[in-house]
Amino acid sequence: MNRLNRESGNVLPVRIYGDQLLRKKSEPVEEIDGRIKGIISDLIATMYEKDGIGLAAPQIGHNLRIFVVDPDWFRSGEKNPRVFINPRFLSLSGVEEEEEGCLSLPGITAEVKRAEKVVIEAMDQEGKMQRYEAEGLYARALQHENDHLDGILFIDRISKLKLITLKWKLRALEQKKDNKGVNLDTYFSDKQSDIPRNS
Ligand SMILES: [Zn+2]
Repeated sequence: MNRLNRESGNVLPVRIYGDQLLRKKSEPVEEIDGRIKGIISDLIATMYEKDGIGLAAPQIGHNLRIFVVDPDWFRSGEKNPRVFINPRFLSLSGVEEEEEGCLSLPGITAEVKRAEKVVIEAMDQEGKMQRYEAEGLYARALQHENDHLDGILFIDRISKLKLITLKWKLRALEQKKDNKGVNLDTYFSDKQSDIPRNS
């Protein structure tokens, strides 16, 4: 059996708001080769380490239409990662407004309207087409991650008024960018530092 080794990936820095790559439309995956399998393992390892419900390839620096979501991790603590390659929604129904966050927008949450139920079709890591029905938080995670593949962040879907209240937080995130436009989270520097931080 060609099972995906769930624990073999590397925990990688996550790109944060202000990074240009997060705003690009991602490309479809042509072939599931060793490189793609490596990216999938890294996505899974990084998602768990940073307590995400899901993670999309652009967030770790790849403009590819891949994301991972674990519908069980946040409910039961049991790891059951699902891989979505070249995903496509077949239906979206109902409306639900709930609070959302994102590993690429640390410290920011807002209420976002999403479809309550979805049907999605995607390739899995073995290249097989799969169809999933989801609702509630799982459906929300699928819509959030799929948005990343189109360069959309949840703050694009909130009210103008709420966005204004987040202006300074967003500006602060944006300014962390290096001269190549790369903007990474502080996960590794936080871990390595012995100096207590106030912020
Ligand atoms: Zn996100």
